[in-house]
Amino acid sequence: MPWHRILCLAVSVLCLRFTLNASAQPWQAQGIIHDVASPQAKLHSVPICAVKMGEGFWSSRMRTNVEKSIPALLELLEEHGVVDNFRRLSGRKNVERKGPLYTDSDLYKWMEAVALVLQSGDRPELRVQLDKLIDEVLAAQEPSGYLNTYYVGERTAKRFTEMQGSHELYCLGHLLQAGIAYYRAAGNRKLLDGGIKFADYLVGNFGPDKRPALTGHPELEMALVELYRTTGDRRYLGFAGYLLSGVERERLKLTDDQIRYLFSGVPFTSRRELEGHAVRAMYACSGATDYYLETGEPAYLQTLETLWRDMVNHKLYITGGVGSRAEGEAFGEPYELPNAQAYTESCAAIANLMWNWRMLAATGKARFAEVMERALYNGINSGMSLSGTLYCYRNPLESTGEQIRNPWYDTTCCPPNLERTFAALPGYLYSTSARGAYVHFYHSSTLDWHLENGIGLKLSQETNYPWGDAVSIKVEPAAPSEFSVYLRIPGWSRQSKLAVNGTPVVSAIKPGEYLEIRRSWQVGDTMLLTLDMAPRLTAANPRLRENLGRVTVERGPLVYCLEAPDQPGLNSIFDVWLPLGTEPSPEFQAEFRPDFLGGVMVLRHRGIATAKPLTDEPLYETFQKRDPGFVKELTLTLIPYYAWANRGSAAMQVWIPYLQGPR
Ligand SMILES: [Zn+2]
Repeated sequence: MPWHRILCLAVSVLCLRFTLNASAQPWQAQGIIHDVASPQAKLHSVPICAVKMGEGFWSSRMRTNVEKSIPALLELLEEHGVVDNFRRLSGRKNVERKGPLYTDSDLYKWMEAVALVLQSGDRPELRVQLDKLIDEVLAAQEPSGYLNTYYVGERTAKRFTEMQGSHELYCLGHLLQAGIAYYRAAGNRKLLDGGIKFADYLVGNFGPDKRPALTGHPELEMALVELYRTTGDRRYLGFAGYLLSGVERERLKLTDDQIRYLFSGVPFTSRRELEGHAVRAMYACSGATDYYLETGEPAYLQTLETLWRDMVNHKLYITGGVGSRAEGEAFGEPYELPNAQAYTESCAAIANLMWNWRMLAATGKARFAEVMERALYNGINSGMSLSGTLYCYRNPLESTGEQIRNPWYDTTCCPPNLERTFAALPGYLYSTSARGAYVHFYHSSTLDWHLENGIGLKLSQETNYPWGDAVSIKVEPAAPSEFSVYLRIPGWSRQSKLAVNGTPVVSAIKPGEYLEIRRSWQVGDTMLLTLDMAPRLTAANPRLRENLGRVTVERGPLVYCLEAPDQPGLNSIFDVWLPLGTEPSPEFQAEFRPDFLGGVMVLRHRGIATAKPLTDEPLYETFQKRDPGFVKELTLTLIPYYAWANRGSAAMQVWIPYLQGPR
């Protein structure tokens, strides 16, 4: 273990005494990524157990996740033979193997979700279930450490011979992440040690001077860096670097198409654009950022910035989703962002969140948190039904009403990925830095942790965000001291206000940046942040041809949409326009409806619709001025995008045509 890591471990154990009880263990100090000793981390994750969520938008989602989603998915994993695939190997059940070759990872992700839930506090029933599953999984592990339910029996000879598609290393990555998460929840090393055994088998047999390895589906890179952070064993970091170095192109005879699609197989630092399979690319970027955080190799950060700008300037949906093409579940060309055909897999939006969390740690720049918030509230949140038991694999931005939510998919990667993301949420709200503490996301909660100089710190947020505009934050240092609290001012909040102990802060508050408040903080100091929650219209770059003549409506972090059930008396939601003045200052009425869609703010706006269905009109006709009776006026009702498709299948659109002119 490097000396700085030992020092940090000692510091964190000492610091724990301020907040947790005296018997606190090092594993309780580890956050979503354990980057406390990462040389390039400007911000450091706080442990999930240090953040207690209050009532609000995400806590009700998290409750549904624990009480409904997680139990229901385990039943389905059992029903579809995913656990039996392990029992079959251990001889506990005599059954056929079921499902695609990557099903092991679906169980591991479910296990990680449970472990992350347990980091917020013990739930004996879930813990017992997890322990039983760990026993089932490890009973199937071979003495060598190898563990995979697909490459067994007559397929044993094919192990590591078809890494372009085998997902063996992908499954190992998820096994390690689940093991690490459970270790951080309870200090229980059983699953972690099983993962380490397989990782040691890999490191011992593969590499430049041994057999070639390739992550045909990147994911293992970030798991190995996290394993290094957890154990201090540099071999895992080295192996992640080997995978990212892409040196095996020749030995594995990879084609150009493969290296584009897999986002693997050439040096990561040679990449200039996001292409190929979106989840693969986003996980590769996450792993590369983790690698940079530990090694500081500048070419990595340059490449990551280039790829990030390619994403936000050309390939990111307004919902935070990525990967527009169904074919290959892939990124498209710049501005290729179709609405109805949008693929935008839930996993890709989640991977986007994970990548940006790492970029935020590396840079401290608010633009990364901004992408996280966009993805979290919209393209990720849409992935799970309000009931918690139906899931979107695709998250399109327009629909004629096809079935979009299902309890199960043959490739059921998204449901457990959503579950582990919601379970991890407390760990994303805050960070610390050498100068103080960061508040990234607003939600009623209490951070009970410490500054990096060891002084205990409690931060308590009270807010009704994203419905309300006010966030009250109480600051309680264990001893009065000078440090900074950084509040993220969202880019969309054009007019934000802050008062400290009732006195308005007069300095300019810049949208899209962190506002640093540095002072000598006393116990009980309070800040009141007020954000600009006025509904707003957003237009797309005209190069995004599909959205020409359209706008979308946003309020706070939420993207809104029109869904058919909210527009009674309308022929079709596709036969409408938003009438805007010459100066498009939107005139919305906002109404919070507590009993509707789990409690949402609906927005209403004047609309224009055709008197008769457009489907009755000819496909083409001479261009001419329309008869005034062609359209009628009505009121359009918009709901948050994440809440669509919760009343059965229905037509929906995010980008709405507008008519501009004097009213
Ligand atoms: Zn998925």
